[in-house]
Amino acid sequence: MNNERLRRLQDLLVEARVAGLVVSALPNIRYLTGFTGSNALLLVTREDALFLTDGRYAIQAAREVQGARVSVPGGSLVRALIASINRRRLKSLGFESKRASFELYQALHAGLKACRLRPLAGLPERLRAVKSPEEIATIRRSVHVNSAAFEKSIPEIRNGRTEAELAAIIEYQMHALGGEKPAFETIVASGSRSALPHARPTDKPLQKKQLIIVDQGVILDGYSSDMTRTVAVGALGSRARRVYKAVLEAQLAAISAVRAGVPADKVDRAARSVLDKYGLAEAFVHSTGHGVGLEIHEAPRLGKNDKTLLESGMVITIEPGAYLEDLGGVRIEDMVLVKANGCEVLTPTSKDLRIL
Ligand code: ZN
Ligand code: ZN
Repeated sequence: MNNERLRRLQDLLVEARVAGLVVSALPNIRYLTGFTGSNALLLVTREDALFLTDGRYAIQAAREVQGARVSVPGGSLVRALIASINRRRLKSLGFESKRASFELYQALHAGLKACRLRPLAGLPERLRAVKSPEEIATIRRSVHVNSAAFEKSIPEIRNGRTEAELAAIIEYQMHALGGEKPAFETIVASGSRSALPHARPTDKPLQKKQLIIVDQGVILDGYSSDMTRTVAVGALGSRARRVYKAVLEAQLAAISAVRAGVPADKVDRAARSVLDKYGLAEAFVHSTGHGVGLEIHEAPRLGKNDKTLLESGMVITIEPGAYLEDLGGVRIEDMVLVKANGCEVLTPTSKDLRIL
């Protein structure tokens, strides 16, 4: 089979003691075969791979799919998949238990003959966590478009502009700079709303002396970027400045802890212990970071009890924050590339507190 990624997944099938895996999550199918369309199923056995899609994607699949036989059954993909599994007389089959629909599971359960179904979560995701040099190059371009969109939008951050207007300006810049689309709904949250880590932009005008969190990402050639900066219009009070200083110190401490071989929760602890020193441990209500790639949130996760060992080639975010209901919030997020002896910060945007 002429596809290194599928071959490595086959090694994992042997390790997991299953004869095959039904892959239904589109980002996994894209990673394993190159297919960028929106409807497909993939059966990977220890010997081969079968890709199924519908007539709309016949031409596209023939051009894109690598390493798997392409089938366009004309009717139900699931029915064709089950027939093919039964023909192969597979004895055990994994399915993506965190991602497969209940309907797919039910159909497999009802249709398979003498085949044991095994819930298997996160197999292709394990491969995806470590990026190839080509993927890293694409992610670098995505990160640069994202940061450039931020820089171009900065002059628009001023008194009177609404959160929603600023978010729209940022997303316009992403498109103008060649991005496919935002990786998620751009977050612009000001004043007390910045205490909500995942606030949606509103028609609230940006006001002076308030914290403003901007969290944005763009997709470029399929790969996401993710960055948060906290800025202000007009000088901030001493309490807000102190929270900013604490979060920045926590972010730098976490970055210093990143290195191949280190468990993910050690990086999380590095950020948490700095915030603890400032009395802000309880104000940090999420994990320190996550992998980024074909999806905005992917493996590994960097939270309190995540024992995953970091590996060279992983691309992760480092994004501690502190959120205080009466004051607002601060979050600072970069993307970093894990290396043998440390990491490279990919995000070029300055982290000095910008007062606009
Ligand atoms: Zn983010
Ligand atoms: Zn993030």
